[in-house]
Amino acid sequence: MGCGRLRILVLVVSVMWASWCSSGCRTAPETGRKQLVLIPEEQEIAMGELAYRDILANTPESKDEQLRRIVQRVGERIAAVAGRPDYRWEFHLLSVPEPNAFCLPGGKIAVFEGILPVCENEAGLAAVLSHEVAHALARHGGERMSQGLVVSAVELGLKWGLKDRDAVARERILQAYGIASKYGVLLPYSRKHELEADAIGLRLMARAGYDPHEAVRLWQRFADFNRGQRIPEFFSTHPSDTHRARALAELMPEAERLYAAAERRMGTGQRLSVGTERAQSVEQPQPAGSGTQPGRNR
Ligand SMILES: [Zn+2]
Repeated sequence: MGCGRLRILVLVVSVMWASWCSSGCRTAPETGRKQLVLIPEEQEIAMGELAYRDILANTPESKDEQLRRIVQRVGERIAAVAGRPDYRWEFHLLSVPEPNAFCLPGGKIAVFEGILPVCENEAGLAAVLSHEVAHALARHGGERMSQGLVVSAVELGLKWGLKDRDAVARERILQAYGIASKYGVLLPYSRKHELEADAIGLRLMARAGYDPHEAVRLWQRFADFNRGQRIPEFFSTHPSDTHRARALAELMPEAERLYAAAERRMGTGQRLSVGTERAQSVEQPQPAGSGTQPGRNR
């Protein structure tokens, strides 16, 4: 790329970044991390709603009414302490054997039946649901879409800047950019989002009166479940299980304080440390085999 053209490209990208940042920078709740979200929240919520309706229309709900009710009750309990009464929170249990759960912008959450055996009890389910609620609160969906926009805009700029170069050199640079943006920006951010959702989720479950220690036990069970099919953290959208457990342990003293406060608020004996209903006793469909990606969205 010619030096002049490169300078113009750098200038254009920095001006774009600065103007986006002035309009799109926000701070993640609880952790205070600076985020770039270019999509207006209403638009993000509308997209989440649309995608959720589409998924619900095409995926069967669990036939077990009692389990559906448990998912809804635990979800609502966490949403009640999430500080976003303006979100139209929804929690559905879908008849999918994969051990997974997902969240769409605006508080649209789905849990797959296959994750329930790993949850083992109500507090384990609360750990999964509060992690998903945290993704919604921190607007990770909108942030990911914004990163995708920036990466594509820079790629377009690069293509323009390189248009006089020979095809082989251009292809090499674009390929290098693709790898750099994936491993240098998109994947690390995705892992950052997971750790942030863990951190926010831990506080939420404690505030809602669920034993935060169950989150550590849950990720340990996931580690056992996934043993043998883990991919190295660097190549993954998710932090390694040990990384996750260490980060949670560091936050535990604060979560314990919140849990104790919830106990005082709710009265002794009201804490929900283990399932009082049959979350663990119901026969669940066996998780799908190694062909699936366990916990991809969790
Ligand atoms: Zn997640």
